[in-house]
Amino acid sequence: VDPARRALTAYFFDVGQGDATLLAGPDCTIVIDAGRHDRNDVVPLLRSAGVQSIDLLIGTHPHADHIGQFPQILEAFAVREVWMSGESHTSRTFERALDATLSSGAAYHEPRAGESYRIGSVLVEVLHPAELSGDFNDSSVGVRISFGQVALVFTGDAERHAEHQMIARGHALSAQILQLGHHGSRTSSTPEFLHAVRPEVAIYSAGEGNSYGHPHDEVLQRLSQMGIPVLGTDRHGTIRVTTDGSQFQIATERGVLMASPPREPVYSR
Ligand SMILES: [Zn+2]
Ligand SMILES: [Zn+2]
Repeated sequence: VDPARRALTAYFFDVGQGDATLLAGPDCTIVIDAGRHDRNDVVPLLRSAGVQSIDLLIGTHPHADHIGQFPQILEAFAVREVWMSGESHTSRTFERALDATLSSGAAYHEPRAGESYRIGSVLVEVLHPAELSGDFNDSSVGVRISFGQVALVFTGDAERHAEHQMIARGHALSAQILQLGHHGSRTSSTPEFLHAVRPEVAIYSAGEGNSYGHPHDEVLQRLSQMGIPVLGTDRHGTIRVTTDGSQFQIATERGVLMASPPREPVYSR
């Protein structure tokens, strides 16, 4: 048996100021967010990662840096099921994403906190939202994805209010890998949330030199005080986390390697 096939690999793609993450397991393929509306990079990235079909495509919320390339993805791959928060935007980008979903033949679901699904050997627990608030970011679909003993948490662009709700509802939030909410914005990653997740590594997706200043210094300082290493797609390019269900390794496009338990990063040429 090819050992690589017994693993789950998470690819935090470098897609500029947006989000697109692939979870490629031995028997399931999940894509969380679809990159920016003004780029065309996600399908080639998924193809180069070996994706042939997608079991679950999640659009965490209707902003154009998260659902931008829904049409291209749904055109290029057979997608079994699509999840969206249920918030609807008046933008053309959202309309196109919804139209592409409806005409693709994929099943469609608006997940709510507390649901959980086993997709092949991966467990998907829905952390958020419990109900819609009308605030696109704060109603982002949040999920905890686990493979064996290793878990990853994704919260889209959820901000502090949503983080407090996830804690208050008593979800198991602990995870080795946390994708920092809202591209590392100071409006997310509260100390309480970071303590609840207790990640060994934090990863954010942001574009180099983006106009929002993501990731914000406050968040980076908070993580540094907690001793949590941070990797970002702006500095490291695409970040790849591979786990066999008990250990994990991280490799990035620009040469930083890290293995669990976290050690000093090893810089390779
Ligand atoms: Zn965003
Ligand atoms: Zn957003």
